[in-house]
Amino acid sequence: MGITHHGRTHRLDLADPTLREWECTVLHADPEQGIVLDRSAFYPGGGGQPPDHGVLLWQGVQTRIVGTRKGDDLWLIPAEGDPVPPAGTTVTGAVEDDRRTRLMRTHSGLHVLCGVVFRDFGALVTGNSMEPGEARMDFNLPEVPPDFKARIEELVNAEVAADRSVAVRTLPRAEALALPDIIRTQSNLIPPDEQEVRIVDIVGLDVQADGGTHVASTAQIGKIQVVKVESKGRANRRVRVRLAD
Ligand SMILES: [Zn+2]
Repeated sequence: MGITHHGRTHRLDLADPTLREWECTVLHADPEQGIVLDRSAFYPGGGGQPPDHGVLLWQGVQTRIVGTRKGDDLWLIPAEGDPVPPAGTTVTGAVEDDRRTRLMRTHSGLHVLCGVVFRDFGALVTGNSMEPGEARMDFNLPEVPPDFKARIEELVNAEVAADRSVAVRTLPRAEALALPDIIRTQSNLIPPDEQEVRIVDIVGLDVQADGGTHVASTAQIGKIQVVKVESKGRANRRVRVRLAD
């Protein structure tokens, strides 16, 4: 698939996560299968980040997009009953800004949490999931330190306030796998046939192989609340967080 394309679709979301509106052409459309565009900024879902919602606008008609399906092509799923633009139609694509922006802030916030918990408590991530504005992350942490909940909330918000830059780059596979931080996080999630690996680097805090969309610097995440720390198994701690606004 490569880094910039999924099937026939040029992915615009990876190069510019701030893009919300663009012109494109429908390559294939079917009310059951979905719609394939030549260029798309819809995040298709992956790495715990859910897919975008949005619309296609064409000839005075609106097609709501409520999800995606990843196969040989990147299929956009239209809302049931909405008209579907025929192949060859020029459309304006638009990603629902509120949902995507909250997902970007939430996703970057999880990387800050992951970086802080590894740096200060030595714990590895075992799983995560997110919705716009709220998320959970599981850590392998046999002993819960005193005041863990309050301490991680303070540490995470200190890194948000420090406004660390979030740098995205792609590296050749061998070079990416040689990064010590990559080994500890998600090396097993890098597809074996992928020759280039996308790296999300919260500079000075956390480096991960990651295909998601992120804010440009940690201040854009905004204040994070640690809602709850739960025990899920002997060594597994589930940390629930949410954006404060
Ligand atoms: Zn991530």
